[in-house]
Amino acid sequence: MEKTLVILKPCTIQRSLIGEIVSRFEKKGLRLAGMKMIWLSDEILSEHYAHLKEKPFFQRIKDAMSVCPVIVCCWEGVDAINVVRTLTGATNGRNAAPGTIRGDYSMSVQENIVHASDSPETAAIEIKRFFSDTEIYDYKLNNLSSLYANDEF
Ligand code: UDP
Ligand code: MG
Repeated sequence: MEKTLVILKPCTIQRSLIGEIVSRFEKKGLRLAGMKMIWLSDEILSEHYAHLKEKPFFQRIKDAMSVCPVIVCCWEGVDAINVVRTLTGATNGRNAAPGTIRGDYSMSVQENIVHASDSPETAAIEIKRFFSDTEIYDYKLNNLSSLYANDEF
């Protein structure tokens, strides 16, 4: 099964939406493999958003991501990376489809509730960026046969 990284952004903490957003991923059937609160430094954010370093809003998004601590989560499931990106929706909350997390909770391109890894390569790098090996737990869900056919996992 795949693992992917989700960050509940400061806007989510400030708007008291932590439970609501975690619940979306739980109800979908993903397994929570790791979770913690961290206050992100400018250094780790520069690494995390390196793909945007030439953009005029680079410092602005780093500042927004360090307004308060965030919740980092590692979710696991079959095709978890794509499943989580689909649940998350388009980057700009105003364009994101209703029913997606950003479509339901965001009016902004920056204040868009969650970060989600966008490929297997970035998921592996991002999980390592925010979690040590001992913070990722490989317990089994006891309802797998209710979540998947036996040839799906
Ligand atoms: N972002 C922004 N303005 C933009 C594009 C991106 O403020 O024009 C922010 C936004 O918070 C987004 C983050 O930068 O979530 C990372 O951008 P990316 O293109 O990776 O979007 P995502 O993968 O989050 O949909
Ligand atoms: Mg991205």
